[in-house]
Amino acid sequence: MKEDRKTIALERISRLVELAEEVWPQDPLLSKRYLELAWRIKLRHRVKLPEVLKDRFCRKCRTLLKPGSTSRVRVRSGRVVRTCLECGHVKRIPLRGRRDDRINKQ
Ligand SMILES: [Zn+2]
Repeated sequence: MKEDRKTIALERISRLVELAEEVWPQDPLLSKRYLELAWRIKLRHRVKLPEVLKDRFCRKCRTLLKPGSTSRVRVRSGRVVRTCLECGHVKRIPLRGRRDDRINKQ
């Protein structure tokens, strides 16, 4: 039963991320509130977010990351360097060894 609860939690989180994307152009603050809510669900249920969801917002300030608008994406020495323009949080993602790459190679 524990797994069911986590599946529902994940569904709610992805829905909130979608909503955050939808309202972002009109209301960035509301968008941020949706993401705060999504983050709280994540903490409460201790679910692990899939990369696709994690990559959508800043894990420090929960701002929706839009390349060119709220985030800056650069590739440096084989890594993607993503900077959140709201709080300056930097995330470095190795280009090799990512789950997506491994799936593609198989
Ligand atoms: Zn941030």
